Amino acid sequence: MPHYVFVCQDCHKDFTEVLHISELSTTRVKCPHCGSEHVEQQYAEFSAVTAKKS
Ligand SMILES: [Zn+2]
Repeated sequence: MPHYVFVCQDCHKDFTEVLHISELSTTRVKCPHCGSEHVEQQYAEFSAVTAKKS
């Protein structure tokens, strides 16, 4: 699952959301810091954390 990095346009903090690609257009992402929906997607980050191979 990709992590999407957003930046809040109100408080200018960034945060990540784990969303399925199909959720991107339907989900209203809220800033966890101030609750604003005025957020901008920066980029998608494919987490390496779950990609452990032994
Ligand atoms: Zn905010």
